[in-house]
Formats: sequence, structure tokens, C-alpha cells
Amino acid sequence: MEARDFPVADGVLVPLLQSATIPASFRHGFSTRAGGVSPAPYHSLNLGSKWGDSAENVAENRRRLLAASGARAMVRVSQKHGTHVVRVAAGDDPETVKGMEADGLCSNQAGLGLSVHVADCVPVLIADPRTGACAALHAGWRGTVAGVALAGVKALAEGFGCRPEDLRVALGPCIGPCCFDVGAEVVAAFEAAWPGAHAADIVVETPGFQPRIDLRQCLRLQFQAAGVLPAHIDVSADCTSCDPAGRFYSFRHSGRLTGQSVGFIVVPD
Ligand SMILES: [Zn+2]
Repeated sequence: MEARDFPVADGVLVPLLQSATIPASFRHGFSTRAGGVSPAPYHSLNLGSKWGDSAENVAENRRRLLAASGARAMVRVSQKHGTHVVRVAAGDDPETVKGMEADGLCSNQAGLGLSVHVADCVPVLIADPRTGACAALHAGWRGTVAGVALAGVKALAEGFGCRPEDLRVALGPCIGPCCFDVGAEVVAAFEAAWPGAHAADIVVETPGFQPRIDLRQCLRLQFQAAGVLPAHIDVSADCTSCDPAGRFYSFRHSGRLTGQSVGFIVVPD
């Protein structure tokens, strides 16, 4: 994925990571810590309101993200580590959508931005160039095991007639298999959800170390199983926990959550 700087008001640049797999007509991006106003430990583009940062700073950061996105409005949901995907229709009040418990949004309303908030979880963006519909999903380990990827593909099919073979999928920065140590109960959950999780490199076992999970590998295989073409799935290599430049928020790395990034996609005009 490529980093591009987007000018926002007062000459400030907001860098966004973008996927070449998502067609250019869908403005989209994965934010980093850069380009915002929050002081340490939230520095600087914290887009989450629950972690102790001031409401004013988060509001300014959200204004900057909205300006960088080019969307007329940006909607989000109340994330629960589940699989519910909200279909956002014309006239839906963003404040109402924000209160809905879900881990994904889909829409075909021109100019509307769909966003998910993440630190170590996977932000997933899906675009359908045939119908113009798109979706954003939040996939932590619980949502991944529960099948949020398939839920996203189904929501697009049922809502807008999308076909899996047309979909373009981008999996953004998240905690990588380099850092995502887990306990036996998480390994068991992945083995139950995906027989052959070890052979498929979803569960990574190294003698002398705790087992680790590759969330993006699991999601990639789930999207393929749902009919998405392998060539249409773009997977970031960035790890939020051990990124050498410290570009991302990470609960694992910080020992506490000091902010959240956003993955967003905008319905074409
Ligand atoms: Zn790592």
C-alpha cells in the first residue's frame, strides 16, 4: 500500500495509506498517527473518543479526516466484535447509525464515507466497481472467527446485488503474526472455525514461543472461500505493534490504548 498526503484546512497534510486494488473512483484510506492535533500519549491523529483524549482534539482530528476523505459525511457504528453489518440508506441520521451495535457498514449512497475504528484489529474495505456499493468492516480475532468477512460479502449481495467475483478487498494495517501472541483458547477458537488453521498458516507455532495468529491470512482465506478472487485481495504488510516508524496505535505495543485509527471508503459520486 502507498502512503499519500492529503491537504486539509490550514495547509496541514494528513497521510493516508491506500490500496491499488480499490478502484480510484472509491476514495479510501487507512489513517496513521500523523496529521492530527492530539498531544502525547494520544499523538496525533487519534480518531477514538473513548480513550481519554479531549473531545475537542478528537473532533478536530475527525474534521481533518473528513476533509482528507472528500466524503460529504462519514458514518460509523458502535463496534462489538461481532458480525452484524449495517446497511446505510439515504436519509439515515449518522447519529442514529453511530448508536447501532455492529462491526460493518455498507452503502451505495453517493459521497457517503463508511468508517471503522481500529488499533490492532483489521480494518477491511470492500469496493464493488460494477454496482458502486462498498463496505467497511472491523475484524478483531472474535469477529474474524465469527465470520465478519462472509457477513460483509453477504450484506453487499443482499443489499445491492454484488457478486463476489467483482469485489475488491483491502486489509489494512493490524497486529501481525510477528506480534499477536495468543492463549490456547484463541487457538482453539480458530481451529474450530477453520479446520486446518495450522496448515493454512493462520496459527503460527514456533517451538519455545506462544502460538501466534495471522488475522489477515485468515481473512484472506475467508474472502476467497466466499468467492472473492485472490488477485482482488490486497493485504497490508504493516504491523501496528512493531512498525519500525511507530506509525500506528497499538494496545499490544503501548500496554494501553492511546488512540485509534480509521479505515474508510467513500461511495463514488
Ligand atoms: Zn509485529
